[in-house]
Amino acid sequence: MNLPVMQKVLIADDDAINRQVLAELLKPDYTVLLAKNGTQALERATRHAPDLILLDVMMPDMDGYEVLRQLRADPQTADIAVIFISGLDRPEDEANGLKMGVADYIAKPFNATVVLARVALHLQVVRQRRMLEHLAHVDGLTELANRRRYDDVYANEWLRTQRNGRPLSLAMLDIDCFKQYNDHYGHPAGDRALRAVARAAAGHMRRPADLAARYGGEELVLLMPDTDAAQALQVVQAICAEVAQQAIVHAASTAAPLLTVSAGGATLRLAEGESANELLAAVDSHLYLAKQAGRNRIVWRPDPAPAQA
Ligand code: GH3
Ligand code: MG
Ligand code: MG
Repeated sequence: MNLPVMQKVLIADDDAINRQVLAELLKPDYTVLLAKNGTQALERATRHAPDLILLDVMMPDMDGYEVLRQLRADPQTADIAVIFISGLDRPEDEANGLKMGVADYIAKPFNATVVLARVALHLQVVRQRRMLEHLAHVDGLTELANRRRYDDVYANEWLRTQRNGRPLSLAMLDIDCFKQYNDHYGHPAGDRALRAVARAAAGHMRRPADLAARYGGEELVLLMPDTDAAQALQVVQAICAEVAQQAIVHAASTAAPLLTVSAGGATLRLAEGESANELLAAVDSHLYLAKQAGRNRIVWRPDPAPAQA
């Protein structure tokens, strides 16, 4: 997993001296962003996705409470860790801040060493949370999205398609005679071959919403939102061509002398009210047809005939 070397901290304070003191303090260890009011803080938070925000509570126009409320209301910024920095130092002010869901509360005047230590602590928590999120949705062997992640994304994309009426294509890819490959070349070689196929698949997921995931075993699933059947078929063809190009020798295969894949695919029949499960089942059954027809091929479900005028 590639974590950026420097974590980003946004300092939002209307007082220029406070901003400068905090910036000087944090600059050696973090990428520091500055905002001098609430509006700027929200704009910088959305644009730069900082790991942590040091947020002044008392600012003219928009105070820290309102900034926090708006951060939490936007899915893009809702999870950013926030530390309140405030001149209000009564225990009930601190308790209120913490109740609003900030990570910490630092009273002014602050002590530089304590600020540094608290920032470091909360950024470590952020780093660990990111790591856990990553582990929870990435497959360790192939580094593709795992099944859990795929299930979530697929459900969301299916819903999105219901709203926007755009095509949604789905394909399933399965390595041919992979059991024989393992038997013949050993499990570690099998793992390498599986990773090679996964790389080919991932390399062709070109749009931000495209997703290649490990569905299970040696089966990959490709989710292509906003992609019609012709475009999706081209993508799957390109992946199969790349696997062929890798020319991984498979002497025990009944399909070809090289490692090959079979694929089934379909594009959602939106007008017919096809469900997410039905589409997945159709894709699976077309993969089965590809296997039955001799493997090393793609079988795409035909589009329904247009209704009679
Ligand atoms: P078909 O052409 O019909 O797909 O036959 P197949 O042998 O590929 O399919 P089958 O379902 O009989 O066997 C799948 C094999 O994939 C068996 C299993 O050991 C292997 N496999 C599944 N996951 C992994 C893995 O992570 N690493 C390795 N090396 N092998 C795996
Ligand atoms: Mg202030
Ligand atoms: Mg197989």
